[in-house]
Amino acid sequence: MIRTQQEVLIVMYHFIRPKTELPYTTLPVENFRRQLKYLKMKYPIITLGDVIDGKHGCVLTFDDGIKDHYTNVFPILKKEEIPGVFFPMTACLQHKNVLPVQKGQCLRAKLHNNEFVLQWNEIAPDECKIDLSKIKESLGYPDDDKKTNKIKTFLSKIPNEKKDPILSIMFKTLFGKESAFAKKLYMNSNEIKDMVNAGMEFGIHTHTHPCLRKLTEDSQRREIEQSKRYLERITGKPVSSIAYPYGKYNPTTIKILKLLGIKVGLKAKGGINTGKLDLFRLKRCDTNKIEN
Ligand SMILES: [Zn+2]
Repeated sequence: MIRTQQEVLIVMYHFIRPKTELPYTTLPVENFRRQLKYLKMKYPIITLGDVIDGKHGCVLTFDDGIKDHYTNVFPILKKEEIPGVFFPMTACLQHKNVLPVQKGQCLRAKLHNNEFVLQWNEIAPDECKIDLSKIKESLGYPDDDKKTNKIKTFLSKIPNEKKDPILSIMFKTLFGKESAFAKKLYMNSNEIKDMVNAGMEFGIHTHTHPCLRKLTEDSQRREIEQSKRYLERITGKPVSSIAYPYGKYNPTTIKILKLLGIKVGLKAKGGINTGKLDLFRLKRCDTNKIEN
């Protein structure tokens, strides 16, 4: 039964790959298929463009430009003739490197918490060492255990320019050449074009995935503008949405977005949107909330 309520459910996905390829926090492809079947039964599947036009339904969103979205998700959506909205970071399309956020994810997945902290602290200068007893858990990661929550909180707070050199050394030791890894990790421009031609929608996830509200106005504008320009060049379409990295933004972010003609901003949590929509603060549901 299709719901007729005035609801917009926006589901957030990251890694979606076969069960056998787990090293990362992942949704197995078969679970994605199952979720899709359920969501299709309950809602019309729509785009963010539809939401701007006042439609109600379910929007499928995919963050971070991960290759899984091209190889595993896109064929399913194409076959089912339903749209998805994709948010790649543009720096990895341009420079073919792995961004600190994914370096952190891959390293944590491979090393697990204790070894990650150990290796990090061996390299990090004193002011950047991880002391788990001093980190306060954040409300942003309610599904993680205490230690994982603290490490994620720490990594989301430390600026990229301090974080990246440490992660890069750890990454190179464990995974080898970064460009080869990046090629397998992220979708490329041709794949994006392919997806656009089949009706998929693309939005901004910034250039390098920083926590926007910690940046100056100028840096925020650069991150957003650069990413918008680059995406519009690849897709040949105006970009009108952003998924805030880590779900974080501030009033300055929204001021910049309005000036640039962006109409929709997505947070990283919050549940279902009901009633009058606040388009720059749309809530999302993480995929693991749909599972149950
Ligand atoms: Zn992200």
